[in-house]
Amino acid sequence: MTECVFCKIVARQIPATVVFEDEAVLAFMDIGQVNPGHALVACKAHVENVYALDDAQAAAVARAVARIARGIREAFAAEGLSVYQANGKAAGQTVMHYHVHLVPRAEGDGMNLTWPVKNPPRAKLEEYAARIRARLA
Ligand code: AMP
Ligand code: ZN
Repeated sequence: MTECVFCKIVARQIPATVVFEDEAVLAFMDIGQVNPGHALVACKAHVENVYALDDAQAAAVARAVARIARGIREAFAAEGLSVYQANGKAAGQTVMHYHVHLVPRAEGDGMNLTWPVKNPPRAKLEEYAARIRARLA
């Protein structure tokens, strides 16, 4: 039996408060609720991170994210909404089953992501982009 908490939620072996599901995706309320309405959109399949998604899974998650984002905006009259997704421990991922956070936002709500801007010269941007492009076969 799987030890993955989100696989257990998908299999209805542990409780969760579901907001949406289709063949590929299950969305449910984050138990931590950074702000009221904070939801998670997870793949039903045990896919660990963004690197492991196939095209159909990626499309299904993106569709659900957009749809549920609109629902959250209306339901909570959200001033803003953050879409957050972590891959790997270094990025803050704690549940190793792919999921996207949808967090309704308000001015001064205390949710902060440190964003240490470097503003490198254009030549650096060109170099970085070339390295990525070479790997997008
Ligand atoms: P991350 O740090 O992006 O991996 O986020 C994992 C999220 O899963 C956290 O925000 C947790 O609050 C949430 N979480 C963990 N266990 C459960 C659970 N049983 N039901 C709902 N949300 C959960
Ligand atoms: Zn899993």
